[in-house]
Formats: sequence, structure tokens, C-alpha cells
Amino acid sequence: MVIAGGGTAGWLTAFSLASRLGNLLDITLVESDAIGTVGVGEATIPTMRTFHRLLGIDEREFMAATQATFKLGIQFENWGQQHDRYIHSFGEIGQRSWMAEFHEFWLAAQGQAGSLDEYCLELQAARHNKFCLGVDIQPVNYAFHLNASAYARYLRSKSEAAGVTRIEGRIKHVSLDPDSGHITGLTLDDNQQINGDVFIDCTGFRALLMGQALGVGFDDWSHYLAADRAVAVQTELHGEPVPYTRAIAHDSGWQWQIPLQHRMGNGLVYSSRFLSDDQASEQLMANLPGAPLTDPRTIQFKTGRRRQAWHKNCVAIGLSGGFLEPLESTSIHLITTAILRLMKLFPFADNMQAQATRFNTETANELETIRDFIILHYHATARTDSDFWQFYRRMDIPDSLRHRMDIFCQNGYVWPDEVGLFRTDSWVQVMLGQGLTPRQHHQAGHLLDAPQLHSQLSALRQSIAARLDKMPRHADFIAQYCPARKD
Ligand code: FAD
Repeated sequence: MVIAGGGTAGWLTAFSLASRLGNLLDITLVESDAIGTVGVGEATIPTMRTFHRLLGIDEREFMAATQATFKLGIQFENWGQQHDRYIHSFGEIGQRSWMAEFHEFWLAAQGQAGSLDEYCLELQAARHNKFCLGVDIQPVNYAFHLNASAYARYLRSKSEAAGVTRIEGRIKHVSLDPDSGHITGLTLDDNQQINGDVFIDCTGFRALLMGQALGVGFDDWSHYLAADRAVAVQTELHGEPVPYTRAIAHDSGWQWQIPLQHRMGNGLVYSSRFLSDDQASEQLMANLPGAPLTDPRTIQFKTGRRRQAWHKNCVAIGLSGGFLEPLESTSIHLITTAILRLMKLFPFADNMQAQATRFNTETANELETIRDFIILHYHATARTDSDFWQFYRRMDIPDSLRHRMDIFCQNGYVWPDEVGLFRTDSWVQVMLGQGLTPRQHHQAGHLLDAPQLHSQLSALRQSIAARLDKMPRHADFIAQYCPARKD
């Protein structure tokens, strides 16, 4: 197997397959130091923990090696309207019944039961800058903020130890078999030839194998998600790192702040239709939380997906397979699900068309679900203060999302998405956070009389507050669990 590209996608694929399929495969990875990696991609979601466990990655070692901090959710600021904020946390909110979701019981209390946020430990811990792995035997659901370059280095050393051969060099030509159209080999600048049976395209936005050599087209989703650029800069960290990502909406884009142990990652995601590169750079530099450590760097991207993620004997993993802007930090997650899918459907025989078809169907469903969730943040807004927000308010949205929003606004009904990524609680937090309010809700809460309902809700709030009290500060927990060397 030949992996082209050594960013997060390339090295994660290499390590996963080398460590789990072992001597069934002979793996070579080619990367070019001169081209480098995209260098961003530092916020993750909780699925990464499960993935790391499957690979046998030691959490403390990984966190120390990548200057990682914990992440309990994302704080959205100025999204529903200016000056408001809400957290999409990874935690469970309250207690559901088999018939009705917790927010429907909370709605039944008609404003007498505090804020929904008070029913979620992870959300409260984020607000109070606290963290631990679990309280009173109940685990906390978390993800990580990590240094992307350090993560690729970490995975490279593990991959090489697991037997992956790394070759440094620029790929200048991809050879195809004239009959089957399969890729047969890669030629490097120094004319070195690397042949293989299966090729993984991890060459990032260039999509050297899948796009350029095999000519697989790209479905452009910029009519739904207008952002096509980001400008990124690293800054000093002031104070303690918070256990959440900040996503701060501006008039023509949004800014991320991702705290690591010794620095902050920052960037502004914007659309060149509404903001020039110079304006974006100025806006970012004027809103930094600390002194810059690097020069601002502009990254161009296209939103959408490769029409086939697996074509012939090539599989696109990472940015070569498609990209959705990082609002919900889903790209590394998509790399991990693609790897799992590839391992389950691995083409051990020559005829791989049926596996490819299944792989492509599952990939498409997953991307469309995430696309809908991201559009929700932009479309369900009361902001009218710029052409950018007007565009999003007026845009046509996918029927699948329209249906969800309609049902929620009519009677508060929410269900997890089809691919099991965004839970009911995720949809509820973002829909309420963006300002959608159900006109009616399930009446299960009224099976109890009002005092009973209030006392049960109050007990839940108190139990969250009591558990929060027992949690240490995030920075203190990191200092004893996974301190990183300051380089
Ligand atoms: P790259 O990092 O671009 O790696 C491509 C590799 O291919 C490199 O090693 C390069 O040298 C090699 N290569 C290319 N051409 C050649 C050639 N001709 N010869 C040899 N080698 C070659 N994801 C998240 O999960 N969370 C986030 O918060 C997040 N934020 C993001 C913010 C922005 C602005 C962007 C653009 C992306 C973000 N992502 C995020 C996505 C994340 O960065 C990527 O999914 C991840 O880094 C994987 O990238 P990659 O490995 O596919 O590509």
C-alpha cells in the first residue's frame, strides 16, 4: 500500500493500518518537506478518544507530545445575534425518558427551572474552567485541542516504529495502467519509482491522485457554505487555557481560538465574496487574544466533496476527499471514520468495486449530515447587519435541514442524525442557541404535577452543581496529567 502525503491524514492512516493490519500489509508513505502540510486542524471531537483507544495510543503520552488541552465543547459568540453566546457541549443534558427528550420536560416547567445549561456537567465545567476525567464514577465526555504539526510528528514516529517506510520527495507523476485505469506507481522528482497495489491519496487540497490523475470530480457546496478562505496565526497564551474552543462570529466570517498548553491557535474563516484577504487579515490581527508568534497565513479552500472517495484502486482520505469548514471541528473525525471504513472494507482481492460503492455511500451520507449541521449555525440567525448574514438568512437550505428546523419549531421534536455523529443534545443546544424556539412540546412533563416536576428538575441541577464543585481547575488537571515540554 502506498500513501501519498504525510499530514494528519497520511500519518493517521499509516499508523492505523500498520498497527492494526500489521504484517498483512507493506506500507510506504511519501511526503514532501518542501510542500509541507496545511498546518491547521487543532480542535477535535470526542470520537477521537475511541479511535485512539483502538490504536492503543496512550492518552497522557499523546497529550504531552502535542501540547494538548481538553475540550468540552465549543462556545459560539455573536451567532444567533450580536453579543449573545452559547456552548455546544459534548455532555448529556438532564435525563431523557424513552418517550420525550429532556428539553421537553424543561420546556414543560415554563421558565421556572433555570437555564438548560445548568443540567449539563460538561457545559458547566467549561464555563468554570474546570476539568477531570470523571466525577462520582460518571465519565466526562471530552475531546482535545492539539498542535497539528506535533501530532503529525508523533504519528510519524509511531508509524515508523510499526514498520511504515517513509520516503521524502515530491511526486511529479502518477502512472496509470492503460487497460484498467488503476494507479500503478508514483514517480518522484529524483525519478525514484514507487509501485503499489492500493494507493491512498492524502495529498491535501491538491488531490494529486484522485483529482488530478484519476480525474474524479468535486461537488462544490459553496452555494450552501460560502467560506472559501481562512487566515491563521498563532499567539501567546494569556492566562490559563480554557477547556473549549471559541467560535466568534464577525460581520463577514468567524474567528476561532484554540488554546494549547503554551500557545493559542487563531484564525478567521471568511468568504472572498464578502471580505478581501487584506481586510480579513486586518480583522484577525485587530482581535487577537495575545501577541502574535507567527505571521498571518492565508489558506484557500473549496467546500464540498469528491464525487467518489474510492475510485479504482485509490482512496482519498483527508482534505483530498473533501472539506467542510472547521466550525464543528469535524475534519479529523472524518479522517478517522474513513480509516475505519477502509480497514473494514479493505481490498484484499483485485475486484474491489463493490467495496468502493459501499465506501462511497457511507462517506456521502456522513458529509451531508455534517453539512446540514454547519448550515444551521449560519442560517438560523437574527443577524441582519451585513451582506454576509443577509446571504445566509435568505439562502435555500437542504430539505433535510428544513424538515428538522420545521419540526423543532412546531413541537420541539429532535432526533440524532442518521450517521450517529451529532446527538439529540447537539441539535437541541445549537437550535436553541441560534434562537429557534419550539411553539409546542411533548406533554410528558405534565404527567407529573407542577411541584413534582420542579422538585425533580431542581434535584438534577443540584447534582450537577455538586459534581462541578468536586472538579479541579483545567490547568491544574493538565499540570499533573499530561504536562508538555515548553519548546
Ligand atoms: P495536508 O496537511 O495538506 O497534507 C498533505 C500532505 O501531502 C503533505 O505531507 C504534503 O507534503 C503532501 N503532498 C502534497 N503534494 C505532494 C507532492 N506532489 N509530492 C509529495 N507530497 C505531497 N480539522 C479539524 O478536525 N479541526 C479543526 O479545527 C480544523 N481546522 C481547520 C482550519 C482550516 C482553515 C482548514 C483549512 C482545515 C482545518 N481542519 C480542521 C482540517 C484539517 O486541517 C485537515 O483535515 C487535516 O490537517 C488533514 O489534512 P491532510 O493531511 O489531508 O492534508
